[in-house]
Amino acid sequence: MTVKQYTPIMSNRNWEVFPGRNKFYCDGRIIMARNNGVFYFTVVLIVVTSGLFFAFDSRYLYMHVSPAVPFIAAWLFIFVMSTLLRTAFSDPGIVPRASTEEAAYIEKTLETPNQDSQTYRPPPRVKEISINGQTVKLKFCFTCKIFRPPRASHCSMCDNCVERFDHHCPWVGNCVGKRNYKFFFMFLVSLSIYCCYLFAFVVTHLALFGLTGFHSYLVGSNQTTNEDIKGSFSSRSGQGNVNPYSRGSVLKNCAEVLCGPLQPSLINRRGVIIPEPPESDKYGAVRTSTTAPMSPTQLGSTNGVRHDASRAEGEQNKLLPKAQEQDSLQADSEKGLVKLSSV
Ligand SMILES: [Zn+2]
Ligand SMILES: [Zn+2]
Repeated sequence: MTVKQYTPIMSNRNWEVFPGRNKFYCDGRIIMARNNGVFYFTVVLIVVTSGLFFAFDSRYLYMHVSPAVPFIAAWLFIFVMSTLLRTAFSDPGIVPRASTEEAAYIEKTLETPNQDSQTYRPPPRVKEISINGQTVKLKFCFTCKIFRPPRASHCSMCDNCVERFDHHCPWVGNCVGKRNYKFFFMFLVSLSIYCCYLFAFVVTHLALFGLTGFHSYLVGSNQTTNEDIKGSFSSRSGQGNVNPYSRGSVLKNCAEVLCGPLQPSLINRRGVIIPEPPESDKYGAVRTSTTAPMSPTQLGSTNGVRHDASRAEGEQNKLLPKAQEQDSLQADSEKGLVKLSSV
């Protein structure tokens, strides 16, 4: 008795004889649509955009905003690419075609017995099943020679019936169906978040860059933003368009603004309130001193009015007798006038 030996040919695999219009890579591990040029475009678009961000923005954002910014961007990039590749490379839920024997059997069952040439009609190629009380029609696929499962459809691009067929997506180079829909959805969500993230930080970078440039100009010319906006020292103002606070050179201006000593605070926030003596009641007001009197050094900061201010104080002291001085102070404070500004 001879035993029939069956030796499979190891080099042949199912993907090599797959009837659909698909491309296979890595010995059948990766399946894609045959026309997948747009998929490469999608990959290039994401990679180039991310590359530009990591090359030009990430270092600045790492230093000036937070070290987490480029790391979160990298994590999002990896997530977006993983979901894209998972959608593109996986089987979307292809329903295998009927084998020759299965097809012959189905054809046979569909044939009506005792055909009469007069009354013969082609058999209905639809099956009806009930799902949760609803009647669902299963259509026969003439290409795959099967009754399609519920929600399946035949993709004309890939030439396969796909379970829970959503659509054929050229951007991911594959059908989107039962087996890869969740990855497709995660790809869309993560790509949206990633785009917003990159856009927000690129705009932040540009804004910070512009602001730094503007303030560098202000420091170099010894101006304030307020003076620049008002055009105090530009030809727009018509007269007096020379900045009197400028030290004459960019270096001297930078040294004064950035390297000068820190001026003492002019408000004595923690000073103790000393109550006025009762004699002051006769003037009809109780004054409390919440601020310490300004010293000449405090007055003389960089505003160039030190001399004038101290001189004005002196002149007023000389001119006014003591009682008159009190009245004048009282009147000034009622009007809300700053004493210096009246000089
Ligand atoms: Zn089909
Ligand atoms: Zn397809």
